[in-house]
Amino acid sequence: MEFDMPPADDPRRLAVREWVADNPTPSDRELAESGYVVPHWPQPWGVGADPMHQLIIAEELDAAQILMPKNAIGIGWAAPVIWMAGTEAQKARYLPGIFSDEERWCQLFSEPDSGSDLASLSTRAERDGDEYIINGGKIWSSGAHDSQFGILLARTDPDVPKHKGISYFLFPMDAPGTTMTPVIDMTTAHSFNQVYFDDVRIPADLRIGEEGDGWRLAKVTLANERVGLSSGGALWGAGPGTDDLLELIRANGPVADPLMRQRIAQLYAESEVLRLNQLRTLSAQIAGETPGPEASIQKIMSDEIGQSIMEVAKDLVGASGMLTGSGPTGLVPKNKQGGPTEVNFPRGAEAEVADVDPIWHYGFLFSSALTLGGGTFAIQRNIVAEHVLGLPREPNVEQGMSWSETRSRQPA
Ligand SMILES: Cc1cc2nc3c(=O)[nH]c(=O)nc-3n(C[C@H](O)[C@H](O)[C@H](O)COP(=O)(O)OP(=O)(O)OC[C@H]3O[C@@H](n4cnc5c(N)ncnc54)[C@H](O)[C@@H]3O)c2cc1C
Repeated sequence: MEFDMPPADDPRRLAVREWVADNPTPSDRELAESGYVVPHWPQPWGVGADPMHQLIIAEELDAAQILMPKNAIGIGWAAPVIWMAGTEAQKARYLPGIFSDEERWCQLFSEPDSGSDLASLSTRAERDGDEYIINGGKIWSSGAHDSQFGILLARTDPDVPKHKGISYFLFPMDAPGTTMTPVIDMTTAHSFNQVYFDDVRIPADLRIGEEGDGWRLAKVTLANERVGLSSGGALWGAGPGTDDLLELIRANGPVADPLMRQRIAQLYAESEVLRLNQLRTLSAQIAGETPGPEASIQKIMSDEIGQSIMEVAKDLVGASGMLTGSGPTGLVPKNKQGGPTEVNFPRGAEAEVADVDPIWHYGFLFSSALTLGGGTFAIQRNIVAEHVLGLPREPNVEQGMSWSETRSRQPA
């Protein structure tokens, strides 16, 4: 790590503190209007912050326990593409609602037959005058049942190479002809949906960018996630992390089993490597350099470490770990305190053991998704192999694209 955090009297810190003093419990709209939701954006959306300034803002808001709006797909993925390729009218209409979380967004990319090979998607958008008619369907659409809009990829030209015939749309989820069914995952939460489009007509001015330019924009969407500023939790930045688990282990006495001690030590060592690697990425960004291979290995490492954290947490309580609601600190009787505990992350999950933080059980079940969503572990390794290590491309090269290039989820 080659940077020091600016001192307590740095004017950028003082400016954030002054704002916090005036807005100790800001609404999402107030946060959006302050520019702190996307500080690296130019005004009026952000404050034009460089990476160090972003870190300061994140630290200060964190210290004041101010949470950002929850519209992750809207803020992280939809907004940058609207900003880059949208018309002035699209920016003015959609960006304020995204940043204030008054309009929630979902991502309508994956299809039952197009996941890793996303460019093979078959949902159709046919031009009819000043409208498009959408037919087809999407799956794994996280939070679609909670969203007002979705970013939609659809095929506008089936007669050109697959990645050239795709267009990108801003899709109103209440458009007539749109239906969805819930997909309940093994945590019992309803976070996914299967979405169907049956002759759905949307205005042509909901297309973003040129017709056929959707693939390029899709890659921008997913590469445009904000600079990772915090160490974050095991579940894609949310939930507990290695430090939380170690703290519980310390508080609950020594671990006698030598194999378990070894696993805990290994988890600690790997988490430290990940933390230092994150700082290396950040250090490069602060120095104005483009992050190199360290950014590519970040997702692979953090997802696998996330799974280890949850596995160790369950295994610590031995066979009891198999029971619903158990976590690293042992078991208490079901519903001891009179009912299931609500978990806020991610949506609707419930636990049956009152005294154990339900996030551990939920996190254990959810953690297998970490190495699938956002580009699977195999696709990430293909990307590292081909684009970082310079190894030969996979044999399944189609129209000049390797398999890993057919997936939009490129390294940051
Ligand atoms: C928690 C979660 C949230 C998600 N949210 C959304 C969302 O909101 N919107 C959305 O559009 N999608 C979403 N997805 C879908 C996600 O993008 C896909 O699951 C992912 O891209 C993989 O596609 P697939 O499931 O079709 O698997 P497939 O592509 O069918 O892969 C199946 C298996 O084959 C392997 N494989 C595939 N190709 C190769 C290759 N070339 N080399 C080696 N191995 C390969 C994969 O690694 C995997 O193990 C979400 C997924 C998860 C888990």
